[in-house]
Amino acid sequence: MKRTDKLVRPNVLKLVPYSCARDEYEGSDGIFLDANESPYGPLNRYPDPRQHLLREAISRHRGIPVRNIFLGNGSDEIIDLCFRIFCNPGKERAMVFTPTYGMYGVAASVNDIEVIRIPLDETFNIDLQAARPWLQDETLKLIFICSPNNPTGNCMDQETIETIIREFNGIVVIDEAYGDFSGKPSFAGRTGEFDNLIVMQTFSKAMGLAAARVGMAFGGTDLLKYFFAMKPPYNISTINQEAALRRLKETGELTRRVQTIITERNRLASRLAALPVVEKVWPSDSNFLLVRVKDADYIYNTLAERKIIVRNRSREIPGCIRITTGTPEENEKLLSELEKIEL
Ligand code: PMP
Repeated sequence: MKRTDKLVRPNVLKLVPYSCARDEYEGSDGIFLDANESPYGPLNRYPDPRQHLLREAISRHRGIPVRNIFLGNGSDEIIDLCFRIFCNPGKERAMVFTPTYGMYGVAASVNDIEVIRIPLDETFNIDLQAARPWLQDETLKLIFICSPNNPTGNCMDQETIETIIREFNGIVVIDEAYGDFSGKPSFAGRTGEFDNLIVMQTFSKAMGLAAARVGMAFGGTDLLKYFFAMKPPYNISTINQEAALRRLKETGELTRRVQTIITERNRLASRLAALPVVEKVWPSDSNFLLVRVKDADYIYNTLAERKIIVRNRSREIPGCIRITTGTPEENEKLLSELEKIEL
């Protein structure tokens, strides 16, 4: 038994995956009378359960072997699968570094898993000293590291991440949803180095395809085999697989768009910093900005009345709102509305 198998829930270890019609015969040519579909198209056939074409295209795009790629119905499905594969309900725990993306906590609650919340330090980095005592705790099975982090916008220190992966015997999940905006090295190609590492990315942010719900997990086959065994067979629709495939063919346009968003984010950051209602704008490795303002609730509500919707994060970080970078026109409109606010 491998070290990673020992981290898997006993019921998952024993699981016999559902074998669907398209697992037994993979060719695309023939008379298909095996899946009780309608013979009349379009969209009458079930999707490819293993998403071969899309995973091959991602493999070429990201330089990662196909066998090390798993796709979920958004990263959110992958987060939920992590809990269901590795954590025994009511008994085991997961760790997050707060403030961070809310779905880790929600998925933990759904799966009856206690969450250890370690506050980020004053520079919004991981407080290794606070986390360390937990790394040897056998009930701790999962650590989520969101880098770049939502809502603080910054990447976590790379050496700290490596230390955690090395010292922890459970699974480390690095969520790189915003990685394409950071210019910092990704961990996606390093899952061969660490058998307990899973890296998540998504089509929802830089790829501009949030509507299609396609999330990616990169990891060793010893871990990914459990994700393939656990997922519903047709977790990504044909329409969504095709949308993602088309998007991967537009790489020139994608790179230009990411560059435009980064330039706009930087311009927005310096313009915001000069406004009287703004107290602080944190540097960002993502496509959004964390901004401390004079009265977060008032500013959030005033903008909403003017049909500009930002995220009020003042319950997690006092005085703060989170602003996504829009088009240059949208950003100008935001700035001019903020200029009008007097406090
Ligand atoms: N991870 C982070 C850090 C996010 O902020 C989000 C969405 N806001 C997601 C994952 C969800 O991604 P997906 O659309 O792929 O489910």
